[in-house]
Amino acid sequence: MSFSSLVLSWFKDQGRKHFPWQQNKTPYRVWISEIMLQQTQVATVIPYYQRFMKSFPTVVDLANADEDTVLHHWTGLGYYARARNLHKAAKIIRDEYDGEFPQDIESVIALPGIGRSTAGAILSLSLNQSHPILDGNVKRVLARYYTQPGYSGQSQYDKALWEHSEMLTPLKQAADYNQAMMDLGATVCTRGKPRCEACPVAKDCKAQRSGTTDEYPGKKPKKDKPIKRTYMLMFTDGEQVLMYKRPQSGIWGGLWSFYEAEQPEQITDIGKNLGLEVDSQEILDEFRHTFSHFHLDIVPVKLQIHKQPTIINDHQGQLWYHLQHGADIGLAASSKTLLAKLTTSKEST
Ligand code: SF4
Repeated sequence: MSFSSLVLSWFKDQGRKHFPWQQNKTPYRVWISEIMLQQTQVATVIPYYQRFMKSFPTVVDLANADEDTVLHHWTGLGYYARARNLHKAAKIIRDEYDGEFPQDIESVIALPGIGRSTAGAILSLSLNQSHPILDGNVKRVLARYYTQPGYSGQSQYDKALWEHSEMLTPLKQAADYNQAMMDLGATVCTRGKPRCEACPVAKDCKAQRSGTTDEYPGKKPKKDKPIKRTYMLMFTDGEQVLMYKRPQSGIWGGLWSFYEAEQPEQITDIGKNLGLEVDSQEILDEFRHTFSHFHLDIVPVKLQIHKQPTIINDHQGQLWYHLQHGADIGLAASSKTLLAKLTTSKEST
């Protein structure tokens, strides 16, 4: 049996056929359901859909409503651009198509808020026209069935899946077939753990056969975190090192750390402003600290001073930290590494 025959015969017994938008199917009714279902669970959509249809039974009713009324019917569904686009598209259909939903795929795709897959779903589900679809559920089924490498949004990947979908979509019974594919993805070939034992196409599914269902669809690689760089200044007389308490907000809030410079040229001025006379400066090995949103490359700078000025004390959020005895204070994660580096460098000199 062909792929589509297997899917269609599964749909006869297992498909979902009782949603409100599956009764009295028209392009308008299917359109509203498809848009509502784009970002929202079926169970949430049903009452919204019923209220919407009661208030705007036809596309002209929707076009004639004011935008506030339309948005009010969307309150709680989120992604309000969807409702605004529905309203805009309804006005276009009223004004340019005499209130009749267009029935050719190009005209439907040209309407605001309708992409290729949604247009295909509207015309196939309501009019049984043969158009491929590729929503999230269908993508998952096909990515696994063909073990398609790549991830959603990658042009090669999307192109390959569209080609598969085009090839598999039957000329007849496209309404049932597309509904079946969406149902298969939603109820059997699910994101977490697919129920391959209940799947009509398991026999030839490459991911199932190779035991790699959890590898498909591929995941988009995480975006690289930005890298920042800072110079951490360790003013030391050999016994003690100057630390300061960081502000409560921001990274390492309220913890003890070292003065920082963004650029090496600023180091001298920072020392002067603190009233410190620097005899020599040494750059130690840099290291990276990773936060959730960025990497921080830390360049430790050891600044040898010959005497501590008395104006610096712990009452002003500054502290001479004794390298041998330590202090009972909260240290920023980086401070521990920096103190260890300073101690090592002191031992090796
Ligand atoms: S056999 Fe399993 S992985 Fe393959 S399409 Fe069916 S449910 Fe998905």
